[in-house]
Amino acid sequence: MATVQLKAVEKTFGSIQVIKGVDFTIESGEFVVFVGPSGCGKSTLLRMIAGLESTSSGHIFIDHQDVTQVEAAERGIAMVFQTYALYPHMTVRENMGFGLKMTGTPKAEIAARTLKAAKILALEPLLERKPKQLSGGQRQRVAIGRAIVREPKVFLFDEPLSNLDAELRVAMRVEIAKLHHELGATMIYVTHDQVEAMTLADKIVVLRSGKVEQVGSPLDLYDDPDNLFVAGFIGSPS
Ligand code: ADP
Ligand code: MG
Repeated sequence: MATVQLKAVEKTFGSIQVIKGVDFTIESGEFVVFVGPSGCGKSTLLRMIAGLESTSSGHIFIDHQDVTQVEAAERGIAMVFQTYALYPHMTVRENMGFGLKMTGTPKAEIAARTLKAAKILALEPLLERKPKQLSGGQRQRVAIGRAIVREPKVFLFDEPLSNLDAELRVAMRVEIAKLHHELGATMIYVTHDQVEAMTLADKIVVLRSGKVEQVGSPLDLYDDPDNLFVAGFIGSPS
């Protein structure tokens, strides 16, 4: 578990500023959801927190340590993407353990952590299958499993359910809530699905054109939106 803090974070691509002075604090173990229109900078922010994208100015802190210049692999963060490219020639077990293998983790440790993650995600019976023998939902669970085995301090999810059909999304949403409950880890989750945001979040960060529009609990934002933009996004009638 870890706190995540952003202070005056900015990002410029060429001459275009896409993140404009973002500040917020995420408490240890919190489930925080980023919402906002396409292109408002949700993915860029996640990638900056993960260390996959540099920060043009400002600072990012994880557990009160300034990680702005720290490499991605050293930040203790795992990210789950919308397109969860699994290695087609590897089994579920191998896909889940591959990242650990690359960092030189001992085989017994990899086996133990893979089994633990498989149990959490109900993937135990599927460990010897190849990705093409799995459904979309099962593949996405493997992608989440890959993140769990790394035992990160913070999980980042970038629209992880967008490629799934409606029924499966609801089922996976429940699984993600369960996962948060079981691991107690800090999680930051991007979605454009308002129901997903309202049901999963302890706290929602509403973004618009690279700026934070409002931060609050789902109920706060619903009952007391700062403006029409937030109201429109959260779906309250005011
Ligand atoms: P979101 O995830 O909210 O849809 P993004 O973070 O992907 O938004 O993008 C925010 C803005 O930054 C968009 O205008 C996008 O075109 C731009 N952008 C993202 N990545 C790059 C990049 N590597 N180079 C140039 N512009 C980028
Ligand atoms: Mg995005």
